[in-house]
Amino acid sequence: MRSHLARIAAATLAALAITVSSQLLGSGAATAAPAPAAVRVLYYDASQAAEFVNAVHQGAANWNARVTNVRLERWTSGRPLNIRVYADNNWPRAYVNSLGNGTIYMGRQATAEGHNPTRIAAHELGHILGLPDRRTGVCSELMSGSSAGTSCTSAFPNAQEITKVNNLFASGALVTAGWREDRA
Ligand SMILES: [Zn+2]
Repeated sequence: MRSHLARIAAATLAALAITVSSQLLGSGAATAAPAPAAVRVLYYDASQAAEFVNAVHQGAANWNARVTNVRLERWTSGRPLNIRVYADNNWPRAYVNSLGNGTIYMGRQATAEGHNPTRIAAHELGHILGLPDRRTGVCSELMSGSSAGTSCTSAFPNAQEITKVNNLFASGALVTAGWREDRA
């Protein structure tokens, strides 16, 4: 208990010191708006995504236009590589290593059947961002995936999906590692 109180006292003194020093530094430091929560930046590499490169960039841009706690950026040398994207001839799917880290396969079987490639890319990125499949058939929902049919070209997350992803990244939540299979 004594050391606990001592820690509280030390913390209080430290806070006082910061307050005093910011006042000494002038009005700016004391009245500045609180810093926004750090945005987690994830780097993705779409260079192996063959004919889906642009769809992946667009899917990432769609997420960036909506969420605030995480941002998807193109990987460049020297950056950590969080998300690898490949193209193959199977159904689209993703392997999630952890929240924000994994591998996406832009399977050609779905586009061959008429599914929209940008919606597929945004959906698979949704898995990497922590969202599970929800085969509701609702087109406005990104994670309904192929259940919404080939006529559905909506490639933006809806309000619930945006909130979920923002909350996951705000809390640094754990997600279950494993495959997210999108075979119809
Ligand atoms: Zn899926």
